[in-house]
Amino acid sequence: MAAVVDRLDLVSYRALIEGLARFGDRRQGTERNALAVDWIEERLVEWGYEPVRLHYDYAPGSDTPEPREEVYATKVGVDEPGEMYVLGAHMDGIGEGQAANDDGSGTALVLEIARVLASSDIETGRSIRFALWNNEETGLNGSTAYVRQRAGLQGIEDPPGSGLYPEPRWLGMIQHDMMMWDHGNPVTHEQAFDADVDVEFQLNSARAAESAALGVALINANRTFATEYPAVLSNAMSNTDSAPFQDLSPAVSLRENRRLYETGNGANPHWHQPTDLVVTFSDADFRLGLNAAMTTLGAVARLAAVRIVPEE
Ligand SMILES: [Zn+2]
Repeated sequence: MAAVVDRLDLVSYRALIEGLARFGDRRQGTERNALAVDWIEERLVEWGYEPVRLHYDYAPGSDTPEPREEVYATKVGVDEPGEMYVLGAHMDGIGEGQAANDDGSGTALVLEIARVLASSDIETGRSIRFALWNNEETGLNGSTAYVRQRAGLQGIEDPPGSGLYPEPRWLGMIQHDMMMWDHGNPVTHEQAFDADVDVEFQLNSARAAESAALGVALINANRTFATEYPAVLSNAMSNTDSAPFQDLSPAVSLRENRRLYETGNGANPHWHQPTDLVVTFSDADFRLGLNAAMTTLGAVARLAAVRIVPEE
């Protein structure tokens, strides 16, 4: 597994953030958002995936439909194709900057893991899905649409006898939102000495115990596979795309700071601001994001039985 995690690359991770940042803040409903969806889909195709577009209507309280789209792709399991882990991040943003950290950093994390797992010498026992949600900033509309449309399709082989499972059963949903900035509060000029990856589950959810267990799997993977930053677990997951899943599936979120107690109290002064730009972040910041990727990939590699297979 360490050999798989070692393939995550800081230069590639940063280049993916820069690729997303070129579209600006990717606010939902804009052309720059639609172009970013295309760009994400092109990357997945380039790596050999067959991405799927989820269509939904974003029109809260309006008479006119507002069609929106988001993309997901799947590394299909060779042992248990009908079971999967979902790795998520939201590709939309606000603030009129580049939404580099919120949530270019999470989107690039999920894409970087997808890039690594696309290698022809890597197979996975269980399926792993990469979901790049749209409309997070307007109220989790993209992830909510996914849950509404697809929860009932879980584990159904379609067509029967084909061995194909368009919606494998959800074993866990791992969300990534704002991955790079842990400079303490009040803010210091570099990563704080106690900078870490914050893993959260929601105590007041139907699947809390299993979500906590998934969180512990991530904490243990961080200790084993991450090179620089530790991870900690807490129980107040909020305001993120894992929330629509939390009563149906084990669900956790990874962040640079705890959402309610730190982000919500001003821990990141660039949050939703024009200064959420690639140039705002230091190498230490990008490495915090990559350490979160090591954490997730290490955990999912164990849980889904990812392995390197000798090539012919
Ligand atoms: Zn966000």
